[in-house]
Amino acid sequence: MSRVLIVGAGLTGSLCACLLRREMPNKVKIVVWDKSRGAGGRMSTSRCPSSAECTADLGAQYISATPYYGQIHQSFYEELLAHNVLKPLVANVEGMMKKEEGLRDFVTPKGVSSIVKHYLRESAGAEVLFEHHVTHIHQKGAGWEVHWKGGVAEQFDAVVLTMPVPQILQLQGVVSSLIDKSQRQKLEAVSYSSRYALGLFYKAGTQIDVPWAAKYIANNPCIRFISIDDKKRNLDSSYIGPSVVVHTSVPFGVQHLEDTKEEVEPLILEQLQKVLPGLPQPISIKFQKWRYSQVLSAVADCPGQMTLHTEPLLVCGGDGFTHSNSDGCIESALKVFEVLKSSL
Ligand SMILES: Cc1cc2nc3c(=O)[nH]c(=O)nc-3n(C[C@H](O)[C@H](O)[C@H](O)COP(=O)(O)OP(=O)(O)OC[C@H]3O[C@@H](n4cnc5c(N)ncnc54)[C@H](O)[C@@H]3O)c2cc1C
Repeated sequence: MSRVLIVGAGLTGSLCACLLRREMPNKVKIVVWDKSRGAGGRMSTSRCPSSAECTADLGAQYISATPYYGQIHQSFYEELLAHNVLKPLVANVEGMMKKEEGLRDFVTPKGVSSIVKHYLRESAGAEVLFEHHVTHIHQKGAGWEVHWKGGVAEQFDAVVLTMPVPQILQLQGVVSSLIDKSQRQKLEAVSYSSRYALGLFYKAGTQIDVPWAAKYIANNPCIRFISIDDKKRNLDSSYIGPSVVVHTSVPFGVQHLEDTKEEVEPLILEQLQKVLPGLPQPISIKFQKWRYSQVLSAVADCPGQMTLHTEPLLVCGGDGFTHSNSDGCIESALKVFEVLKSSL
């Protein structure tokens, strides 16, 4: 049985694991490693430290299906709707860009990471390990030896890398020597926006009186988006407490990218008071830097994946190889899966 390592428990990695499990049962041993403490990647949902039910989506906010992707990824949408992972967005989002006709927006009642967790649950039998930060990959015999920070290296027959492209380029060992000149140029040209996110958690019973569930903010130097997250997800928060998500603008993110949390958080909170004067004091705040937020320019002329080595197989996928949303991840996971299937 081939042993396949998927690096990254975001949407691309978890869906790759699920596709392998469903389409090639008993043929592969699937292992997923992620450097974080939980699943989701940029589809991350944070919990209030004092109330696990009070959560906030710090990365992706909602899932938008264009008519084209709604059709070609119909089975994925149907599955997530059938499992109540997705629900139609019914709340009022102010300032949203004009929508393409026929576009459908969805929210995730249990937080956006529930999409990723759904696919990991569907990968029954896969070994999913967190706090496994991959640092080196070396070829050893007919397979790969993969090293992670603070742990013992392990051997795999095939490796899939699903992290943002600059993090793929940071890997040491064989990755840097394998990439040919044209692949390297394409990977180095990939760019991402950067921004900060705050999750503000409140005591049960706190009222946040705004006439919207989420709003795009124009003309503020720091804040671009605010969501009253429970309202966005159409939940009754009276017994768990509301949560507020704040995303900064990209120019603010870029300007303060190397600053510390202690420097950046007060600046965001000061601007938040200007945008929403009288906002109550939260009981807890989660701070998140998205150095690699959304893909600005993806790998050029790319079929959704890049194969760095065929025997043994080393393949990269993720939104950097398509575009930065759920459909981009599904598209890439399907392409990575095709490569795995024909190679294994
Ligand atoms: C602020 C923000 C808002 C967004 N809004 C939306 C939205 O509204 N709708 C939408 O559809 N999309 C949105 N997106 C984009 C969406 O979140 C991404 O396209 C998607 O989550 C990418 O998934 P992925 O699996 O390809 O990568 P990731 O989610 O980045 O997963 C990669 C994983 O690899 C792990 N990793 C990295 N390096 C290593 C290593 N060396 N070893 C082990 N593990 C490693 C990371 O911890 C991570 O979990 C948003 C993103 C951000 C940041």
